Amino acid sequence: MSVLITNIGELVTNDPALGEGPLGIVRDAAIVVGDRVEWVGPAKSAPAADERLDAAGAAALPGFVDSHSHLVFAGDRAAEFAARMSGEPYTGGGIRTTVAATRAATDDQLRANVARLVGEGLRQGTTTIEIKSGYGLSTADEARSLRIAAEFSDEVTYLGAHVKPADGPEDYVSLVNGEMLTACAPYARWVDVFCERGAFDVEESRSVLKAGIAAGLRPRIHANQLTMGGGVRLAVELDCASADHCTHLSDADVDALANSDTVATLLPGAEFSTRAPYPDARRLLDAGATVALATDCNPGSSYTSSMPFCVAVAVREMGMSPGEAVWAATAGGARALRRPDLGRLSVGAAADLQLLDAPSHLHLAYRPAVPLTRLVVRRGAFHWPWGTHRSSPTVSSHLEQPHKGVLS
Ligand SMILES: [Zn+2]
Repeated sequence: MSVLITNIGELVTNDPALGEGPLGIVRDAAIVVGDRVEWVGPAKSAPAADERLDAAGAAALPGFVDSHSHLVFAGDRAAEFAARMSGEPYTGGGIRTTVAATRAATDDQLRANVARLVGEGLRQGTTTIEIKSGYGLSTADEARSLRIAAEFSDEVTYLGAHVKPADGPEDYVSLVNGEMLTACAPYARWVDVFCERGAFDVEESRSVLKAGIAAGLRPRIHANQLTMGGGVRLAVELDCASADHCTHLSDADVDALANSDTVATLLPGAEFSTRAPYPDARRLLDAGATVALATDCNPGSSYTSSMPFCVAVAVREMGMSPGEAVWAATAGGARALRRPDLGRLSVGAAADLQLLDAPSHLHLAYRPAVPLTRLVVRRGAFHWPWGTHRSSPTVSSHLEQPHKGVLS
């Protein structure tokens, strides 16, 4: 079935060949979607389709690509957050609290938690979410985490090297690179490591990523979150798709990123939730690096599933323009996952888009914390976060049916 969405006041395509500027903006636009994007252009020249939806002048843009999350866990750490907001520093040690809760949870409890968070993100425009393991930290618990993550996403990341578990072997890296990797690789596309003081040093991180690559996984890395370590340069050395956090960067780090295919993925939810200084997106963009924005959704240091929140914070606190932040949250995330079929709305791309209750993408940053997402199309399926009555775009009866998936 194909659907014509017409009377779109402002369509962000992220394809400069289709419209104005780097966002490829088309005004008074229409788009035809089936399983993929079938047609994009001015509404007046749109072809017919099986169904028709009138956007009533609203803005549309690609679905958000949240390229960094840790959704497979149990419990929460609200008390730790409250303590931190009362003056205690964040050191990363609280990860072990979540490991204990995760190991004690049943598969169904973990699955329900992932479904809840994926649903939250979807209601806020996220159509792709990368999901990491990292709260199991034993062979069986890491493999279980990845098996459950793979039920919700194609972008699944093995993060056995999240932190060294208190009850792990002395040479935990050998376990991560050996038996645990063998058990986990079949469920994952990516390998990741937390390269940081108190977690894994550069040599250990290199060995984890190289072992993952040898097992057929692609590398990405948590780098330079808390200190100016060597994670970013390791990312570039190994052609990691993404170096994530990038909060503390030397000039050499910025240059290395700018002269590589490694995306700098910034995670402002983490700085917000740990009351830490934000990464300097402006510096990276001015140097020519590719920047992505993601939530880092996890119960310890960034318990938000909201990409619009990240966009707003990146604009207010990190020197990004609204357009740059929207690009980073869509096309940037797609680059960070090396998925050319995502993060853009041109013919052949995935049918992943969102319609806002606003006339422009600028409102995502201009109206912080306001739920603007009216319609989300993910892989061609229509989801109405607030029902079809709100702001009443004219829809055919077929499209009004409530979705029976994660939103039900
Ligand atoms: Zn993370």
